[in-house]
Amino acid sequence: MTTELLFRDDAYLREATARVVAVHERGIELDRTIFYPQGGGQAGDVGTLVRASGERIPIADTRKGDGIDVVLHVPEALPRLVPGETVTLEIDWDRRYALMRLHTALHVMSCVVVAPVTGGNIAPDKARLDFDIDMSLLDAGKIERETNALISRGVDTETVWITDEELDARPELVKTMSVQPPRGAGRVRLLKIPGIDLQPCGGTHVRNIAEIGGIRVLRIRSEGRRNRRVEIALTN
Ligand SMILES: [Zn+2]
Repeated sequence: MTTELLFRDDAYLREATARVVAVHERGIELDRTIFYPQGGGQAGDVGTLVRASGERIPIADTRKGDGIDVVLHVPEALPRLVPGETVTLEIDWDRRYALMRLHTALHVMSCVVVAPVTGGNIAPDKARLDFDIDMSLLDAGKIERETNALISRGVDTETVWITDEELDARPELVKTMSVQPPRGAGRVRLLKIPGIDLQPCGGTHVRNIAEIGGIRVLRIRSEGRRNRRVEIALTN
């Protein structure tokens, strides 16, 4: 059954209630969730489900299930949950907020390094993008300065939806060669940072890019013939 993705409309929800739909060895399915499932390079959320009895069920990871918008909450140990019962969802907010800040930072950095993106990953403590670019064109100090200058503009981010056909008509929007936007639902979600970036993305982002604070480049290294990996962390 499809899970209603509450984080898609409000990435700042730390708590919600939901009904248990199914419990199996791959995870717990709920009718709705604030837990982001691993995808688009962003790590899955961790947190807790709380039963009406007060029993707390630690969630170690969140993954996509089979089918569109099915979310599996992966418990540390298989719990005694009953389909139909109501649980309270709590995500590890400090971890998620760091992921949101780093994720949004990658959007900004992708406008400083102008090259096709071949991969990416967002962990709570660091994030990276891989570019198809010559090593001589990558300067850590310059990437830091220019990315932080854009962050200091402090603009609000926006979510924009377009149809599959509209996206097909604007292939330049897809910067990431390795992660094609999800198709099949008839519409595609874009993240817009006015004046800076516009690209398909299903991840979680901060409301205003000033929340990123600033970034520093941890390292730049070669990952194969065409891949140059730029790894960043938040400055605070
Ligand atoms: Zn994004």
